[in-house]
Order: sequence, then C-alpha cells, then structure tokens
Amino acid sequence: MTERLYYEDAYLWEFDGTVTRVREGKKQGTWEAALDRSAFYPTSGGQPFDAGRLVFAEGEASVTDVEADREGEVWHTLDRPVAEGTAIHGIIDGKRRTDHMEQHGGEHMLAGAIWEKLQGTTIGLHLGQEDSTIDVTLPDERTHLTEEEIRMLEDTVNERIRLDAPIRCWFPSAEELESLPLRKAPTVQEHVRIVAMGEFEMVACGGTHPSSTGRIGMVKILSVIPAKGKARISFVCGGRAAAVFQRYMRCADKAGAALSCPVEKLSRSASELKSRLAEAERKANRFETRELLGMFREAESNEDLKGITLAAVVTGEKDARAVSAAVSEYIAEKGRLLLLAAGERLTFARSTDVKVDMSELIRRVGRGGGRPDLAGGAGIPECVGVARKILMTEMK
Ligand SMILES: [Zn+2]
Repeated sequence: MTERLYYEDAYLWEFDGTVTRVREGKKQGTWEAALDRSAFYPTSGGQPFDAGRLVFAEGEASVTDVEADREGEVWHTLDRPVAEGTAIHGIIDGKRRTDHMEQHGGEHMLAGAIWEKLQGTTIGLHLGQEDSTIDVTLPDERTHLTEEEIRMLEDTVNERIRLDAPIRCWFPSAEELESLPLRKAPTVQEHVRIVAMGEFEMVACGGTHPSSTGRIGMVKILSVIPAKGKARISFVCGGRAAAVFQRYMRCADKAGAALSCPVEKLSRSASELKSRLAEAERKANRFETRELLGMFREAESNEDLKGITLAAVVTGEKDARAVSAAVSEYIAEKGRLLLLAAGERLTFARSTDVKVDMSELIRRVGRGGGRPDLAGGAGIPECVGVARKILMTEMK
C-alpha cells in the first residue's frame, strides 16, 4: 500500500521514493509503476490526477496518469519503463495541482453554504478543464436558483474565503468521528479522513485542499441548469475565476466600444439595436417581397396552358423569408405555376387547383424535394428553363 504524502502536506511538490512494482500500461508504449510513497494524487472524488515527472539515475519519465487500486496501491503511468527497486525523485506539476486544490476547496465552501443557507444536498463534484460542476438536491425538488440566491451564495462563500480561516485535514478516532458535526455521512467506513474549512464546513474527504480558505481566492457561479431532477451548478475558483473575470471584462469593453456606450448600458443598447435591426429587416423584406412579386408577374407567359399562368424567374440571391412570403402570396391565387431560381436556390410552386407535382419536377431538373404544391432545392439557373420546357410540352 502506497504511503500518500499529500495527506500530510498538500503543498509537497517533490519527494523521494522507491518503485515497488511495475506493469505494462493500458496504452501501448506506456508503463505503470507503483511506489512505496507518493505525493501524486490519483484521480478520485471528481478531482483529476497530478501530472509531473519521476527522475532516476538512468533518466526521467513523464507521469501522464495516476490511479489507485482497491488495495490502496498508487499506480503512476509513465512514458518509459523503470525497473522495480529503482530509487526515484518525484516532481509534481504544482501549477496544475494548485488549480485543482482551488476548485476542490471552493467546492467544499460552496456545498457548505448551500447546505447551511438553502438546505440543499450536494453530490458528485466534476472538476473539468474549464469549469467544475456539482449536482444539488434542493427542498421542494427545485432545479434552479434565483439570481438573489446565487449572489447570496457567492457573497457568503467569498466573505468566508477572505477571512482566511485554516483548513484542517485529519483521521479522527471512531469515537471522535461520531461526535463531529459532518455535513453528510461518510461514504467509507474505515480510515475516514475529515476536512474542516474553518468553522464553516466539515465533511469526510480524501482529496487535496489549500491550507486556508484564503488560498481558494474566490468563487464565482457561472450557471445553474436543471439536470435529472437536481440543480447543476457550474462554478470556477481561484485563478480560473480571475481568468474568467479578465475574459468577460475584455468582451464587455470591446462590446461597449463597438456600441459606443459604457459597459453598464450594454444590455439596453444591445436590445435597442436588436429591435431597430429587426424593424429594418422587416422593411427590407417587405420591399424585397414586393420586388419579387413584380418579377413573377412580369415573367408570366402569354402562351395558353389550358388557362394556367406559368412564370419562370431567374434572379440573384434573395432573402429566404422574402422569397417564402412572395411565393406564398403569388400561389394564393388560382391557376398559377411558378419556377424560381434565386441564386442557387430553386423554388417550384403552384396554386392548389393546378395538378402538377412540383416535388417530382424539381427532382427531374435539379436536387431537392418537398410537397406536391411547394418544393425547394438547389441547382443552376438553367434548371428553370429546362423545367419550363418540360411543362410546356407535357401540359399542351
Ligand atoms: Zn475535499
């Protein structure tokens, strides 16, 4: 069983140990080494493994994955083999681990506040590349939080972070364990490790945590969405929270500059712009619809097709909504057949009383399909001429 050095000191980035067992890795060209003692954290409890290196007399190997087995042995996946009995010097990627500890520590604080303030039970931390998520069961089967609740949780947690209370981890005796005010019952029966975040939160956890709440930096909730009857809260802590703030500020500043308004007025400016744009589009569409209808009428054939009017139109690209509006209006009248190429978009349509399958016709000259009275597709403008010829021949 590997002695886990991070239990004692979560900031131990370097240590000495010995390789006790070696086996082939799961991926080709990798090996797995167990050590007698290790400060590498194996993936567990939602916290990803530590990356780093093992240095030994013959050279060094990169640690690309770390897992613990049922017997408590910690296995380090390496990119080169190492012999049993080799003395190693382990070096952990401290930046990666610090980031994980900030997210993990923040999760404890957040879960503690959710329990205390909202009587919500937190399960399952997932520490991702970008953000972390927890699933919370709230009273009354609620699956969301209000804006005020989100702010209240952030303020509560961030205030406690600024108090820089000590974070303590220890293995209590069975007697002591029974007397501890844990947020939830431990999931393991033996070797229960407790983490206490100042006076704010106490729970069983085998993970790595900062030494005080201040080192979590800050917590920011990004979103709350319903997930399988629970509220899924996505959040960032520490350096990640600062990075999100920087990114959002940059975006807000750029948007403000683009709309020539201060950041505080961004949302009002954006909605105003959006409604003005929608109105302008409506006007332009009405104009384009009228223009298209004019084209259809101008293109109407004089030849007698048993009382049916045929219009074959080739034009440049047009707004899809304007085309749709013009076509609907045109075929609303009886006895009309329309063959339209607007850019590369084909629209073949007819009035309900005309018995020609436009969907079949479009497939004969180009690509596409649809209903017998209204079909759409793609093709070259010449398709319209070919389709017109077919109709003229077959309908005479
Ligand atoms: Zn923990």
